[in-house]
Amino acid sequence: MAADRDIAELAHILDQARRAVVFTGAGISTESGIPDFRSPGGIWTRMAPIDFSDFLASEEARRETWRRRFAMAETFGMAGPNRGHRAVAELVRRGTAAAVITQNIDGLHQASGVAADRVIELHGNTTYAHCLDCARRYELEALRIAFDRDGSAPLCEDCGGFVKTATISFGQAMPGEPMRRAQSETLAADLFIVVGSSLVVYPAAAFPELAKRNGAALVIVNREPTGLDPIADLVLHRSIGETLGGAVGVE
Ligand SMILES: [Zn+2]
Repeated sequence: MAADRDIAELAHILDQARRAVVFTGAGISTESGIPDFRSPGGIWTRMAPIDFSDFLASEEARRETWRRRFAMAETFGMAGPNRGHRAVAELVRRGTAAAVITQNIDGLHQASGVAADRVIELHGNTTYAHCLDCARRYELEALRIAFDRDGSAPLCEDCGGFVKTATISFGQAMPGEPMRRAQSETLAADLFIVVGSSLVVYPAAAFPELAKRNGAALVIVNREPTGLDPIADLVLHRSIGETLGGAVGVE
């Protein structure tokens, strides 16, 4: 019964909101079978991430980066949006949420029907690649065929630059345009909903603090406690699909 009260309270807060922002982290995508790289036992505790400066400096680091990405191809390729993603998409469709700010790189918000221009990707996107010099876009399928054939890291056909997934690596600057958009959406919001982020990765985790200081209501839906639980208006330590899906009324 307590759980149902939680969902009813969240539904009530959503009904009151005039301009919400949804901020998502790994927790929403683990429910689709995508591993949380940073969690205890996650990939990065067993295999150190490759720093951006190493990617630029070393062909071997570039090859290893691509080997790891292609090894994850099935995981990313099989994963589809879950009930939590569908609930977020419904909030955008209704006009309750003006934007989705995400730390995830899997493209599942777009796959669930949120228009790409409503999704602000703070850490980029791993479902395609681009040239680091001229920004030409490359699809992973074609890169993989070439990689499997000759084993060397891909170079841009136009300018010879290094081709890399469109993600933000460790040691790489946060993307300016998404950071600016995230800030302006945060300042325009009267409700900020954190979904599946433990809020430990800065500067991304600064947005909910900013929203709260700016007068927005703050809701946190995350399985584990977060550092911002004490300042939130509502905190639900529960699964995301069940909680958001129930509050929004989508399966
Ligand atoms: Zn290029």
